[in-house]
Amino acid sequence: MATDCSEQEAAESRLARQAMQDELTGLANRAAVMQALRDALREAVQAGGHLAVLFLDIDHFKRVNDRYGHEVGDALLRAIGQRLEGMRGDGLTVARLSGDEFVVLRPQAGDRAQVEAFVERVRETMSEPFAVGDRSIRVTASFGVAVFRGDAEDPVEAGALLSQADRAMYLAKKAGRDRVHVYFGAEGGAKPAQRETRQAN
Ligand code: GH3
Ligand code: MG
Repeated sequence: MATDCSEQEAAESRLARQAMQDELTGLANRAAVMQALRDALREAVQAGGHLAVLFLDIDHFKRVNDRYGHEVGDALLRAIGQRLEGMRGDGLTVARLSGDEFVVLRPQAGDRAQVEAFVERVRETMSEPFAVGDRSIRVTASFGVAVFRGDAEDPVEAGALLSQADRAMYLAKKAGRDRVHVYFGAEGGAKPAQRETRQAN
């Protein structure tokens, strides 16, 4: 009986884990990152400090599938996931939302310059070629960043903040890809005050 119970418990915890995990990369999935985002927002309001939500989408990923096949594309997504996961220290949450979209949450992100330095670090990490089988594949990505300021007067919904980062990413794509677009939340208000599209180095 005891064995049945522990087997059932193990199966239940496996299911609970799978519900929060992206199957392809093993990263946090959308449900998990939304939970982490809600927690991080609560913490930013209580403890102060800015929360940066970085949304990145690989540029021209379809070409990888077209050129090398879907399996190589899958392996590349896993390699990208591992590379980002390697940055997880310092309380970062790394997730794959779907397709070639990834999210990194950065609590205590600091001022605008510190947020930009952080995004540069992620871009540098991504800029090294990825070894997939005997291939070496380089990719670029478009980055959208939304910052919730802990001193904002109005709270913001986790979903709204993620959408803001998604929109910023879309603007980076539209401006030519391989770029960063940042919304830095306004002081005393969660609405974006400054917008910027910056070309990659
Ligand atoms: P863009 O520069 O506009 O981002 O173009 P893109 O080619 O990267 O296309 P987009 O981001 O709009 O779509 C992502 C593509 O990635 C769609 C699909 O071909 C591919 N894709 C989505 N999910 C998977 C997956 O799980 N495995 C593989 N191999 N490819 C995927
Ligand atoms: Mg893409």
